[in-house]
Amino acid sequence: MTHDPNCLFCKIVAGQIPSRKVFEDDDILVFHDINPWAPVHLLLIPKQHIATHADVTPEHAALLGKMMAMVPVLARDAGATNGFRTIINTGRDGGQEVYHLHMHLIGGARPWKQG
Ligand code: 5GP
Ligand code: ZN
Repeated sequence: MTHDPNCLFCKIVAGQIPSRKVFEDDDILVFHDINPWAPVHLLLIPKQHIATHADVTPEHAALLGKMMAMVPVLARDAGATNGFRTIINTGRDGGQEVYHLHMHLIGGARPWKQG
């Protein structure tokens, strides 16, 4: 499996950096964002190192489909029962900060939110 020794999320996958894990199997890890924007803020990542969504190819289709398909149960279990947002930031113009592909799952009531 592809692994980048300098990558923050690869280090989380390897257990070198601690995280609050929610789900894990051979392919995917889900953990709480360290700086949540909402009551529910999970990050879904492939365990293999894929830097950005722009690096995804058809061979990753099953992996990404699996990630997408597990979102409803994760959202429900985390308490995002009235909807959620799934966001993938890609590259510099997409505002990506960590260059290991990840999907944000953001939900829960946000009474302070304007838009
Ligand atoms: P991006 O801007 O790349 O889409 O999002 C990166 C996310 O990773 C941010 O929401 C940030 O809070 C989160 N993050 C950065 N470093 C860590 C960390 O060490 N642990 C966890 N759990 N989340 C992190
Ligand atoms: Zn990585």
